[in-house]
Amino acid sequence: MPRLDEKGSKVEVLAKGLPASPGAAVGQIVFTADEAVEKAGLDRNIPVILVRAETTPEDIHGMEVAKGILTSRGGMTSHAAVVTRGMGKCCVAGAGDIDVDEKAREMRVKGQTFRAGDWISLDGTTGRVIKGKLNTLDPSPDDPELEKFMDWADPYRTMKVRANADIPRDAIQARAFGAEGIGLCRTEHMFFGEQKIPHMRAMILADNEKDRRAALKKLLPMQRKDFEGVFKAMDGFPVTIRTLDPPLHEFLPRREDLMVDIATLQYADAKEKKSLVSKYRDYGAKAVTDLKKLMPMLLSRVEQLHEFNPMLGHRGCRLGITYPEITEMQARAIFEAAVAVAKDGVKVYPEVMIPLIATVNEMANQAAIVNRVAKEVFKEKGRTVEYLVGTMIELPRAALIAGEIAKEAEFFSFGTNDLTQTTWGFSRDDVNKILPTYIAEGIIKQDPFAVLDQEGVGQLVKMATERGRKTRPNLKVGICGEHGGEPSSVEFCYRTGLNYVSCSPFRVLTARLAAAQAAAGEKLQIDAGRTK
Ligand code: PEP
Ligand code: MG
Repeated sequence: MPRLDEKGSKVEVLAKGLPASPGAAVGQIVFTADEAVEKAGLDRNIPVILVRAETTPEDIHGMEVAKGILTSRGGMTSHAAVVTRGMGKCCVAGAGDIDVDEKAREMRVKGQTFRAGDWISLDGTTGRVIKGKLNTLDPSPDDPELEKFMDWADPYRTMKVRANADIPRDAIQARAFGAEGIGLCRTEHMFFGEQKIPHMRAMILADNEKDRRAALKKLLPMQRKDFEGVFKAMDGFPVTIRTLDPPLHEFLPRREDLMVDIATLQYADAKEKKSLVSKYRDYGAKAVTDLKKLMPMLLSRVEQLHEFNPMLGHRGCRLGITYPEITEMQARAIFEAAVAVAKDGVKVYPEVMIPLIATVNEMANQAAIVNRVAKEVFKEKGRTVEYLVGTMIELPRAALIAGEIAKEAEFFSFGTNDLTQTTWGFSRDDVNKILPTYIAEGIIKQDPFAVLDQEGVGQLVKMATERGRKTRPNLKVGICGEHGGEPSSVEFCYRTGLNYVSCSPFRVLTARLAAAQAAAGEKLQIDAGRTK
């Protein structure tokens, strides 16, 4: 990852946010994803930093082309943080001193105003936001010294290291860093692409099963193709695919934005009208007349979906239970892809993972759909593949009744982002308002979303592992929250007997080293005990 080269440069730190994704980025400020693509797209190639109050799935095309991301809100597991770590891209999140005014296209900090086109530099390792254009030092990923070092460390390691990767490109990258499988493929990220998101939205906007199924049918081949790519990249290694998890409103415009746009339309001049049509093109708007019907319809659906606490709401397995056709489509895409690549000689081990389980009945409900679809596909294609159906442990209740859940779940993976959120009762997206004071006052030592809270959340991980294995002694157990790439958390996972940790591709090397150190450290202690 690049680093800032500060030698000989004047460094004016404007603000400090969270070091959400390491590395450095230098570029011109842009305030929207479209502006990022316009400037940084192939023909112009201008380095840009996408500055947002917070990012959403709608920003993904801008995040893809930006050198780095800066947000004024959000924590270590906010959308910006998680997505950029997956991309190996620098991100400073939750820089609360910065006032981002997306409408006025400016950011204000320390009495200064920065506009689109102004240069800033980000240090994702320390969280610093720096005025102006610093130089960067590029890394050398194939450094022979590093390779030699890993060759020494790896033989000590007994715990596997997988990667969190959602698309074939990231899976290939993960293999290059030595990942031994995928521990979390977030399938919603497969819907972000420009061709896919309109169908995803059509599926969400559908108010009946028939229309929902029609939209899902369009998504099926795209999802199948993505899975084929991921399976091929992971030939011979397991791939854990999670069924749809995020609250559906994340794919729609924000309620407040829609209200403003509806009001704006009434008095808009020709230019504003044109820009509104273009904004709602993905929802089917071709002309201003379409907007008059479309926007109130969208608002009404967004209001139906609106939740006061979306993180505790209609998400995870709750989506697949209320809309079983979503799980059905995803299972079909997984098994059709698996059978297709197996035919070409690829060794494929899909593990279908059901998120946010609180009771064994939820697990049984979703596992029944997955197993039925698997059977159907295998019969249709005249071929079978080995697979598992398991769950994420993300709720304290699931950890408590892990013994019951293991009756239905063939593996566990700790989603410690949500498990931390639900154990502490801290919102993972808003915690940054509280954390700096808590850390400064010595109330807590470190951000529990970055470093696993072994004393609290760790107890749940340990207990659920023990209880799960009491029911199913060979239960495969891993972790796929952001802690899976953090050294002290990796060491804890080793001590707790987890089979693997999974982290973003760019943290795989760190996790491999931490897992090797944990095993070597234990061996040293045992050897020392023997010689006493
Ligand atoms: C988790 O909750 O730890 C997890 C990996 O899932 P997500 O971050 O997508 O909620
Ligand atoms: Mg989760």
